[in-house]
Amino acid sequence: MADARRAIPSIEALLASPALEPLLRRESRSRVVALLRAIQADVRAGKADHGEAESYAVELEQRLREADRPSLHEVINATGVVLHTNLGRAPLSAAALRAIDEVARGFSNLEYDVEAGARGSRYVHCETLLTKLTGAEAALVVNNNAAALILALNTIAMSRPVIISRGELVEIGDSFRIAEIAERSGVALREVGATNRTHLRDYEQALNGAAAILKVHPSNFKATGFVAEAAATELAKLARGADIPLVHDLGSGLIESLEDLGLTGELTARQALAAGADLVTMSGDKLLGGPQAGIILGRSKWIAAMKRNPLCRALRVDKLTLAALEATLLSYARGRARSEIPVLRMLALHRSELRERATRFAERIGGRVIDGESAVGGGAFPEAGLPTSLVVIDAPAAILEAKLRAGTPPVIARIANERVLLDLRTVLPEQEAVLARLIANAV
Ligand SMILES: *Cc1c(COP(=O)(O)O)cnc(C)c1O
Repeated sequence: MADARRAIPSIEALLASPALEPLLRRESRSRVVALLRAIQADVRAGKADHGEAESYAVELEQRLREADRPSLHEVINATGVVLHTNLGRAPLSAAALRAIDEVARGFSNLEYDVEAGARGSRYVHCETLLTKLTGAEAALVVNNNAAALILALNTIAMSRPVIISRGELVEIGDSFRIAEIAERSGVALREVGATNRTHLRDYEQALNGAAAILKVHPSNFKATGFVAEAAATELAKLARGADIPLVHDLGSGLIESLEDLGLTGELTARQALAAGADLVTMSGDKLLGGPQAGIILGRSKWIAAMKRNPLCRALRVDKLTLAALEATLLSYARGRARSEIPVLRMLALHRSELRERATRFAERIGGRVIDGESAVGGGAFPEAGLPTSLVVIDAPAAILEAKLRAGTPPVIARIANERVLLDLRTVLPEQEAVLARLIANAV
């Protein structure tokens, strides 16, 4: 250790050495000096060992690469979970990316009415498409579905009770609890029924003085066995009779039914509105396949009141989101959603196609193929398993999985029975070659 300390070259000597010359042509001197000091400190502390200037140069390059790498970056999703909240939910369509590029590159008519030559509203941009696609009277887009719920509850029921079934007081993802969201929205929840069973009469008995009825999609949670819930149509009738609105948080939110893919049991936004909900809220980046957004659909009267609520400004959506959402909605309006929106394309991938891709890929990397299931994710269709083909790599799983995660880009895979499994359903076709190279490096 004493020898190593003595051998530490001075900053001046390092800066003057030919080994650092190319680096100094590229990077600012102050940046290089700061990094050299950090490396020297590690050497003194015995955490690193560098003797010659060449060794410092290699370490410098490494540290510069790390420092220049964005914290938020691409990963390859080989988990087969299509809507993975930790992995950024829905990948965007090519049209959505083009729309973002156009609007972000320069100026836009975000809040400018070009025809009138006067100030406009950002809220007009997706409203017509949303009402056409869902049959809603009016629509409003905010930051996300949590924001949609906060805005709706705060606007409708500030300081007043909102009726909710105890079976729907769920926690969704990390730290999103319906009860806490309601509390922060300034409304008092009036809980009715039991965890497993809530009947229409439970709501009926709680109507006195209530400002709204809230129905919440239980997301990833499914109660089975001795269970009962009031149907949306019944709740709507009850709410109408009491002259209060029914708010239905659909969660994932479907624009078009996915029944032909075997995905049943979720209402589309149109169906939820037709069942009598006065307001429907849903996410933009779950099954809809667009950017993070909260979509509120329903009665003009309530949408207008929400736009006037000062909270609307705090929860408002930005222009990049609006651009991407509008392009995504246009794919639906043109009847091209299944072919253009990545989430729907992945969900619709046929078994035989997945097997073919997996077989080809397994040959390429020296793996084998087994049958398995992909998941929808995002709280939608929690019990649906989509038949898929998995590529199994016969190598020690924990080590391989860690190596794959350390790649550029990182590969996020599944582990089962001590083996790494890859589900190509969620791997974009253009990522396959990179994935094969990353696996070859890791094995
Ligand atoms: C996902 C989800 C939310 C939260 O939506 P975000 O867009 O993530 O804010 C709320 N309610 C339900 C039922 C959900 O599934």
